[in-house]
Amino acid sequence: MDNLKLAEILFPNLSLTVDDIEAKYPQRQLASGAMVTRLAPSPTGFIHLGNLYGAYADMKLANQSGGVFYLRIEDTDEKREVPGAVEEIINGLQYFGVDFDEGALIDGEKGAYGPYRQSARKELYQVYARELVKKGLAYPCFCTEEDLAEIRNQQEAQKEQTGYYGKWARDRFLTMEQIEKNLAEGKPWVLRFKAMVQDGETVGLVDGIRGPLVLPANNMDFVVLKATGLPTYHFAHVVDDHLMGTTHLLRGEEWLSTLPMHLALFAAMGWEHPLYCHTAHLMKKEGEGRRKLSKRKDPELGLNYYRSLGYHPLAVKEYLLTILNSNYEEWRLEHPTAADSEFEFTVDKMGRSGALFDLEKLNDISQTIFLQLTVEEIYEFVLAWAKEYDTAYAQILTDHADMAKKAFDIGRSGDKPRKDLVYGAQIAKFSAYIFPETFEITDSYPAEVSKEDCVTILREYLQGYVYEDDNDAWFGKVRLLAQELGYAAKPKDFKKNPDQYKGHVGHVSGVIRIALTGRTNSPDLWEVQQILGVEEVARRINNAIAALN
Ligand code: GLU
Repeated sequence: MDNLKLAEILFPNLSLTVDDIEAKYPQRQLASGAMVTRLAPSPTGFIHLGNLYGAYADMKLANQSGGVFYLRIEDTDEKREVPGAVEEIINGLQYFGVDFDEGALIDGEKGAYGPYRQSARKELYQVYARELVKKGLAYPCFCTEEDLAEIRNQQEAQKEQTGYYGKWARDRFLTMEQIEKNLAEGKPWVLRFKAMVQDGETVGLVDGIRGPLVLPANNMDFVVLKATGLPTYHFAHVVDDHLMGTTHLLRGEEWLSTLPMHLALFAAMGWEHPLYCHTAHLMKKEGEGRRKLSKRKDPELGLNYYRSLGYHPLAVKEYLLTILNSNYEEWRLEHPTAADSEFEFTVDKMGRSGALFDLEKLNDISQTIFLQLTVEEIYEFVLAWAKEYDTAYAQILTDHADMAKKAFDIGRSGDKPRKDLVYGAQIAKFSAYIFPETFEITDSYPAEVSKEDCVTILREYLQGYVYEDDNDAWFGKVRLLAQELGYAAKPKDFKKNPDQYKGHVGHVSGVIRIALTGRTNSPDLWEVQQILGVEEVARRINNAIAALN
């Protein structure tokens, strides 16, 4: 076969040469040890926690080494592309604090190693595909779906490995005349890589996370260019990571099985491959076991889940860092207020087996993050979330800004601060008691107190209520009221002599709590009343009395 001629007839119209391209993508001038990493999502309309997990790792590696972190959009699979997905990726990552040095932007792009959208790089791939043909390492394949099904049927019948390889690779053996004839007839073709391996051959490499790996060498004549002329992922990422100078290639472990194809391509092109780092899947507990988080079954896999519920991006980041590096939590305990950028991140401390994703732990971290923010920051964050996802609540927050801030601030100081705030939607529900528009009585009055006593307690309480009383004076009055009505002044007195009392002061304040907050559990009642103001206190108590009658 005259490979040069074949290259010419397959790619007659390319204007670029390899030299032109290599000149456009010079080696990056970076300090030694600087890492070049990339996030390379496909715009399929679903941006998930795995993307973010990888993005934080990529970003940290590049930032801490003085390298470059870039965003490349892998949009060569036209069938799977969803309109608007690129915007969603870019916005979503930005929201969670992912910052790229180079790459695709919503309008255009930045950086000297672009284009950063694969669909705009078609000719580049073709130039390198032509090189493979020239080397006798790629050939056109005219097989139809039916032809491929027929090959598979025969392989299954003969209990042979299925796929396009070796003697089964029908079009590997076409003559130049046959190829020319097929092309002249306008038959669609794909370009296949010509695997050159012996039976049982293996390839070895060191994975940045998994250490030394030995894998069966690729024996498949897989597709490098599709009939549209666009490359497959396998070929595209090899060309791009070479040209863009990626040094550390982090991606999900689902790519381990096709890694030998990628190594074969790097070798065929005569290029050094980046350090591959295959990250573990995010797992979830199920019953006794654990399983991979699934797009279909687990809404918490999608980034939108966290955004729409109003998780603070710092909480999501902090949580993912704890599962990204096994020593992060220990470091955090020693440096509770340090910026995470001070933590030295390493790929070898990334887990090899599935990282367990735990929503409860995320919630716990969220509570801590909210404690670290100022009340002003919390208010601004919750308001911005509400404007997008709960406009009625946004209106309330705007109308009662002062009240909201005070309510968010109750009990946050001291040794044992309250951890009431977790995420936007939860905060909206939690804080509903404070606003006149959303206050409602949802819990019941304490069972120890009769309806008549509830009314008496509330009536007398309101008569004696003085806004200016401090917390102690206020509670002293509640205690006195309890005693007057036959309730013990202290819970322990009631416990000792339950027959002597109707209940204790806790039951009496419980009645007031229900009338004022609607709930059995609420932040400090005295502080709540300081926020509500005397008129609203009176209104709520009077309404409660009316509802009890
Ligand atoms: N486009 C691939 C994906 O979204 C990226 C794999 C890689 O990072 O190389 O799965």
